Amino acid sequence: MNDNNTYDVAIIGGGASGTAFLYVLAKYTNIKNIVLIEKYEELGIVNSNPVNNSQTLHVGDIETNYPLEKARQVMPAAMMVKRYTDSLSEEEKKPIISSIQKMVLAIGKDEVEELEKRFLEIGELYPTLKKIGRKEIEELEPEIIKGRDSKELVLALYNPEGYAVNFGNLAKSLGEKAKQIKEKRIDILLGQKVEKIEKGDSGYTLHSSRGNVYADVVVVDTDAYSLGFAKSLGYGKEFSLIPIAGSFYFTPQKLQGKVYRVQDKRMPFAAVHGDPDLTKSNVTRWGPTARFYPVLEARKIGTMKDFFSSAGIFRIKTWISFGAILLDPLRFWYLLKNLFYDLPFVGTYFFLGEVKKIIPTLRWSDITRAKNYGGMRLQRVDTNTRSLLLGEGKILGDNILFNMSPSPGASVSLYNAMRDADQIIKFNPKVTFAKEDMLRDLCVTHTPLGESDPSLSDTYAS
Ligand SMILES: Cc1cc2nc3c(=O)[nH]c(=O)nc-3n(C[C@H](O)[C@H](O)[C@H](O)COP(=O)(O)OP(=O)(O)OC[C@H]3O[C@@H](n4cnc5c(N)ncnc54)[C@H](O)[C@@H]3O)c2cc1C
Repeated sequence: MNDNNTYDVAIIGGGASGTAFLYVLAKYTNIKNIVLIEKYEELGIVNSNPVNNSQTLHVGDIETNYPLEKARQVMPAAMMVKRYTDSLSEEEKKPIISSIQKMVLAIGKDEVEELEKRFLEIGELYPTLKKIGRKEIEELEPEIIKGRDSKELVLALYNPEGYAVNFGNLAKSLGEKAKQIKEKRIDILLGQKVEKIEKGDSGYTLHSSRGNVYADVVVVDTDAYSLGFAKSLGYGKEFSLIPIAGSFYFTPQKLQGKVYRVQDKRMPFAAVHGDPDLTKSNVTRWGPTARFYPVLEARKIGTMKDFFSSAGIFRIKTWISFGAILLDPLRFWYLLKNLFYDLPFVGTYFFLGEVKKIIPTLRWSDITRAKNYGGMRLQRVDTNTRSLLLGEGKILGDNILFNMSPSPGASVSLYNAMRDADQIIKFNPKVTFAKEDMLRDLCVTHTPLGESDPSLSDTYAS
């Protein structure tokens, strides 16, 4: 196909997921005409934007809520991003990825025992991961120990080899590299919102703000918006979305690297953690919090109507499911507590208690709200089973795929793109995919890639 607006494959969404898929199709398949359509004038400025996420390459070493099997899978899957950046020049690589030390901190007897067990379980997967006690923690992160009761038990797993990633710049780089691939027509249409997807006899018509685009196969990589598109074509009717906003706070720089906490496995959200920020120097960024807020995009109140149409809020089953999920005592208390963190003026006072668990000497005056930072986590709900589904969501249709990619979606974006390329072969057997080449280029060799999906899990790590 080579009419001006007709393509073999159309990808909707220019975040880490859509651009990773564009790159994989352009570089490793024989598909010649591919288009990526993004509603904004820039790639990677919604959830992949570094101000909206925690910028962590999640490999499973400090994410104590990942079961061993998930850690085993997520490590090589996430390291594909690192391997991709290794293929770039120093100048290209610098705005995307930085090496950073990281640790997961256990406080008190129960957490210490849990972390001891965890190290026995996962230690062999991460050759540079070390178990460290109070003295070494003090050397590496002095503020964690300063002012802490000397009787309080602490332990950490420390890895000097961690990575902070600007996933927005990753998206821009993947898009740029895809376009450079010769003898193919790779178009990136920016500032073009897809309003509607229509299925015809010989493919799909994408009605957009700047005219129609036609494609045999469509992959919808619009994260939270993907469910609305799926429903408009009759798929995924049983799903709804619980919208959880994650805010962040700044303090003066207190940490040298990333410090996560041992996670309460019963909780669906990550515990508050501290990270150096790639967008702002000399500060530590704390968060994310978790607050029910009915929009699809952070700081875009107009997306409330998109939430209402995607979430199916006019169905009684949706409200019964919301009730069953949100009134669970543990979640209810957690969300209520988080509500206090976001209150104007006094929110920082309540939040201080969380952060003091990591930095005991912190004062109220040290904390400021990170204005214009924070993203939306749209947690899927199965209204048939009234359950919360926290991993990635993929809905498979007739020559169409819909991806919803919560954490660690950005970390495993290249891996997910590889799986989607496998699916494209099933859609069209004439397509060839040089998967072995991709694995040779991007897969860390010492760990086999798992067959199941590392994003699919009932845990959330960011
Ligand atoms: C608070 C928080 C912390 C997180 N921390 C981490 C972390 O540390 N590490 C990690 O790996 N992950 C983290 N995540 C998850 C991560 O941000 C996502 O997994 C990832 O960014 C998803 O990428 P995406 O490309 O699927 O979505 P997005 O980056 O949101 O891209 C979707 C794109 O689709 C476009 N789009 C939407 N509708 C249309 C339309 N109609 N027409 C055209 N284009 C459209 C949007 O404009 C957008 O550019 C975090 C998320 C949150 C909220």
